[in-house]
Amino acid sequence: MLISTDGIVLKTKPVGNDDHVYTLLTREKGVITAFARNRQKISRGMGSALELFTYSNFVLFQSKDRYSINTASSNKIFFGIRSDIEKVSLASYLSELLIELAPEEGEDPNDYARLFLNCLSMLETGKRSVLFIKPLFELRLMAMAGYMPDLLGCSVCGKSEGKSLSFLPSSGSLLCQDCMAQATGQLAIQLSPGELAAMRHIIYAPMEKLFSFALPDEALKRLSSIAETYIYHQLDKTFTTLEFYHTLL
Ligand SMILES: [Zn+2]
Repeated sequence: MLISTDGIVLKTKPVGNDDHVYTLLTREKGVITAFARNRQKISRGMGSALELFTYSNFVLFQSKDRYSINTASSNKIFFGIRSDIEKVSLASYLSELLIELAPEEGEDPNDYARLFLNCLSMLETGKRSVLFIKPLFELRLMAMAGYMPDLLGCSVCGKSEGKSLSFLPSSGSLLCQDCMAQATGQLAIQLSPGELAAMRHIIYAPMEKLFSFALPDEALKRLSSIAETYIYHQLDKTFTTLEFYHTLL
């Protein structure tokens, strides 16, 4: 069966002489792996469409749950990312997170594709920095994938404002200073009002307003570390692409 779908190349791996296996985030089928045979032969018009992070239209041959790429043509090539090692390394990490948290059967992969494409565009044009995009993507993706933290208020007394709210990565909830005794040995990270406001925005804002907030670089770095800690506690997993990203900083 032939299907046509738009999608983003998340990962490529050579197999054998001239064959490649691709991991794609498609709008129709979510995250899939697909083979391309004899890439040299079919690369005319297809070469750039199969580069990392390119957004392309794919015609796929599907046999049960196996896919092979018949043709591909690029919709959007993010040249401004490819030429910047820091942006490439961040995009690689975001891709690995997407593969890990891929939309399940029955979920709409479009929101995932839209989030990733918007982040790639912001990175490419430099409208938002690497420091800004990283925690935004991490927290938003986690929320979309079923790991939404509860940032409305203290999980015990409901207090929602003030300087003394802390975030608990293991439960994804908040505790105020008065209720901190409930934390019982869990890691609790105290949030500044600005950091909490930014986290709430990232989690709860509609997609069209998602990129409309500002935070100083120092606070973005803290947010980035909080997001990583949250992911680590929730998924119990480390990412090699993230380790590489850190070596660049
Ligand atoms: Zn409380």
